[in-house]
Amino acid sequence: MLRRTIFSGNIIAWYKENKRDLPWRNTQDPFKIWLSEVILQQTRVKQGLPYYETFVQKYPNVAALAQAKEQDVLRTWQGLGYYSRARNLHRCAKIICDEHGGEFPNTYREIIKLPGIGAYTAAAIASFAFGEKVAVVDGNVYRVLSRVFGLHDDIATGKGQKVFAKLAQELIPSSDPAEYNQGIMEFGAMHCTPKSPGCPNCVLAVECHARREGLQDKLPVKSKKLKVKHRFFNYVSVVNDGKLLVKPREEKDIWQGLYDFHLVETQKPTGLDLLSDLDLLVRSLREAGAEVAVSDEYVHILSHQRIHATFYTFYLNNNTTSIPMVNKTSFHPLEEVLNLPKPVLISRYLNDTFF
Ligand code: SF4
Repeated sequence: MLRRTIFSGNIIAWYKENKRDLPWRNTQDPFKIWLSEVILQQTRVKQGLPYYETFVQKYPNVAALAQAKEQDVLRTWQGLGYYSRARNLHRCAKIICDEHGGEFPNTYREIIKLPGIGAYTAAAIASFAFGEKVAVVDGNVYRVLSRVFGLHDDIATGKGQKVFAKLAQELIPSSDPAEYNQGIMEFGAMHCTPKSPGCPNCVLAVECHARREGLQDKLPVKSKKLKVKHRFFNYVSVVNDGKLLVKPREEKDIWQGLYDFHLVETQKPTGLDLLSDLDLLVRSLREAGAEVAVSDEYVHILSHQRIHATFYTFYLNNNTTSIPMVNKTSFHPLEEVLNLPKPVLISRYLNDTFF
């Protein structure tokens, strides 16, 4: 097998030459490193960078984040998706303040006990901020290790993941674990990319198993395609004298804590007549003579779900003010709604309908 010191040495040398200058690389502040890692999960650097900068500006340290209102944190996070991550960030900041005196725990074993922090993020914080010799294993690392070392273990299985975690831990050098960890992730993100790896001018070209065998497009092995669930959302948006009827999402579902409208979810696409049969509010609005505009379908893509949304916008006039108030809904001026934390889907509808 390729000598470990050659592998890690080449990765570090490549990193020194090619690394991107990113703000979270110029700090050892565990709070900022944590923030960047959480933002960058499932998000490209270009998209995540402005969010990182806004967060650091608004919440420069863990105490500032802990003291913020959850609604403000969600509003700042808006557009990144996966809102449970923002809620966990906030929860975690409170725990660090309440139980650790505001000091970030400084070992992998302690960091991983915090809510919402998994093995990857704990390893990133422990090594980047505190120099602990603990290997990070993310999608980039799987790709590089599987290709260079010819590992065909399935990275979608616990068994396969253990094989990679073990090798990653064996490869990490004691001298500079942080630089090596950053290096292998950057090498995977920039050079040994999924679709077009830069094999002809690669520092590992001679040693690389995938290049020798022409297996770049076969590695890493990942089974189990996640099934995408299609959901049909019928949003009832009521407009009355410049105010909109909105409600917080409190169910254990996507977008918890964000604001949307009264929602009727159906198994398949529906229409206004069927919706009237299903929903008391829609029925009352029609009986009261409210004008209605029906939107085209909006498709919103999440990792495991496709949301097919239709917005039924009802315009009340002065004579049609008596409608049944649905639980938790309340009228807010449009300007106020714009400042509430909302799913991107709702922002798209507001932009299309009112501006
Ligand atoms: S030779 Fe190609 S496949 Fe192998 S590590 Fe380099 S870029 Fe990746």
